[in-house]
Amino acid sequence: MNYHILESSFYCLDFEERKKKDDMKPEVVAPQYVCVVNQNHILCQCCLQPMPDRRTLPETRQQCCLCLRSFCHVYWGCKKAECLGCIGRFKDMNLGRKCLVNLILENPYESEILQNYLEEKKMTLNEMRDICMQKLDEGTYKCIDQRRLNLTSERTVCYPCALRNFKDLAYSFRSDIKKEDLPEAVRRRNDCYWGKNCRTQKNKPHHAQNFNHVCEQTRTS
Ligand SMILES: [Zn+2]
Ligand SMILES: [Zn+2]
Ligand SMILES: [Zn+2]
Ligand SMILES: [Zn+2]
Ligand SMILES: [Zn+2]
Repeated sequence: MNYHILESSFYCLDFEERKKKDDMKPEVVAPQYVCVVNQNHILCQCCLQPMPDRRTLPETRQQCCLCLRSFCHVYWGCKKAECLGCIGRFKDMNLGRKCLVNLILENPYESEILQNYLEEKKMTLNEMRDICMQKLDEGTYKCIDQRRLNLTSERTVCYPCALRNFKDLAYSFRSDIKKEDLPEAVRRRNDCYWGKNCRTQKNKPHHAQNFNHVCEQTRTS
């Protein structure tokens, strides 16, 4: 019991420090490899620099399993300034805190509700990601490429493919939040008839604020 109390106070103290890791590019040590004669090269689609084509070795993780494009971050550390790691195992991908502003249904208001919840629970983006990955592997949370291409947390994905799928997982995480854990103003809203498929929520802030969109569509015409 005491252990849990200690653990949670420790978590509160360094919350700001832990949040910084959400925006940190993981360091990678380049492999000791010398190009062979007639070495084939491929371009990283993030930094546009050539790297030796070693895609036949699975551990090099040079290719996204979803879009099949090549990226260099796992191979030798991508040098592009704004890159947070353009490829990696889905479970290791840093999505970066800036994605939080539009993460839920591309609806800034629903995204803000999630952000406020994370702040209140002192949970970082990467900690939420870890929970989502566990739920994905358990089969509790679904995402678009899990249905189509059997995506798991261990597969190698690029940043855009990771973000697209993470949005679906984050939606499930948001809909799992208990009503009691949401502010009164959020709870008392009625569901929009179009639910999560509503298009108005993306560009009409007043509508996004007044109706809940973390729900299924109940009207079709
Ligand atoms: Zn070379
Ligand atoms: Zn991809
Ligand atoms: Zn690169
Ligand atoms: Zn990159
Ligand atoms: Zn709506």
